[in-house]
Amino acid sequence: MIARDRLDALLARERAAFVATHPRSAEANAAAGNLFGRVPMTWMNKAATGLPVYAARARGARLTDVDGHDYVDFCLGDTAAMAGHSPPAVVAAVTDRLASGGGLATMLPTEDAARVGTELARRFGVPRWSFTLTATDANRWAIRLLRALTGRPRILVNSYCYHGSVDESLIVVGPDGNAASRPGNVGAPSDVTTTSRVAEYNDLAGLERELAHGDVAAVLMEPALTNIGIVLPSPGYLAGVRELTRRHGSYLVNDETHTFSAGPGGATAAWGLEPDVVTIGKAIGGGIPVGAYGLSEPLADLLGARADLDLVDMGGVGGTLAGNPLSLTAARATLEHVLTATAFEGMTSVATAFADGVRDIVAGAGLPWSVTQLGARVEYRFRSPAPTSGGASAAATDPLLEDYLHAYLLNRGVLLTPFHNMALMSPDTTLADVATHHEVFAAAIAELTS
Ligand code: PMP
Repeated sequence: MIARDRLDALLARERAAFVATHPRSAEANAAAGNLFGRVPMTWMNKAATGLPVYAARARGARLTDVDGHDYVDFCLGDTAAMAGHSPPAVVAAVTDRLASGGGLATMLPTEDAARVGTELARRFGVPRWSFTLTATDANRWAIRLLRALTGRPRILVNSYCYHGSVDESLIVVGPDGNAASRPGNVGAPSDVTTTSRVAEYNDLAGLERELAHGDVAAVLMEPALTNIGIVLPSPGYLAGVRELTRRHGSYLVNDETHTFSAGPGGATAAWGLEPDVVTIGKAIGGGIPVGAYGLSEPLADLLGARADLDLVDMGGVGGTLAGNPLSLTAARATLEHVLTATAFEGMTSVATAFADGVRDIVAGAGLPWSVTQLGARVEYRFRSPAPTSGGASAAATDPLLEDYLHAYLLNRGVLLTPFHNMALMSPDTTLADVATHHEVFAAAIAELTS
């Protein structure tokens, strides 16, 4: 049992300790008055200690802040650095392109792009790829194409999903069971319940009810939810989604941006899924911005035959720097040399050690928590059994407890993903790094429960 007054006191102690040991970070923060929210991007204020970690350097699975503290980094840029920070093969390829006058912003195709397309097709099973700068844009452009093709107005997503700042995705199943705008949704261009439909993850009956309206162009989903804790599919759920989408004439988009952790071809390959479109971003660039969407052959053919769609100018799909030479050089190096099948084997076995160790500590403390693994990614939740939908998962959050664990770990050199208790393994993450986490995590729990 966790005593809440004890939790409050420990969290205050950890926050004060962080501020006291990070004077240069505090100075950097004080000097940032011309930044909105004092940070380069407002999400960076999601800091358990109240003060962001100001990174000075990052290599492999390690990060050093401006105050000289070292961290084992299990956040890895919320997956953008799943290949490890500054992977040598990517740094070499990118440096070579920069130094050799390869051109950074030509808006012309490069040979690297075709290689990346071939590799993504081999891994994810869909054969026609196009590039963006972010996973958000991959999702945006994919759903525009699918609306155009079907003539249907709506997109269906899972409640408490995250697919980037995609207007159509900011919808939840509300407390009364009806669709509602996601709490906090900033400046929606229109009522999201008129552009979208929503079903709870793992709820095939709910999905069928919504698809039966016949107005859903596409279901956009992560094969497993990863942004409200990890929520894994119940047996038969993903096959049911595929069957229902086919029956109701809706396309299926697998957003593999995070579920890529399941293996070299993401959950799509690991679980034998058959989406019409795969979207991805972040990790495939090894730290350099890139996103991508891949289309099935029939879908690409149908789109290619639509002369009325402006795909080569201002029709709403495309961007000046999308597919730029630097992004594609980085993606090619990442896929060919860093996030290989062999690397995934190692990352997954380190993640299994992470999950097993956390389970042991939690069981030893008699806490009713659960641990979920998705290949190279692990998450602990304050509920057992693990929630099976986004709504249930949202209800199981405990922000103060989360902040306490994050702050305690940070003060002892371990960085978790700030948005939840998520730990990602890179090819450079070692069993010793995992042991470091476990030692500190066990101490955090002991102080809380003693
Ligand atoms: N899809 C998923 C599943 C994500 O987790 C995210 C980011 N967390 C995105 C898309 C958007 O990525 P980005 O912010 O790089 O556009």
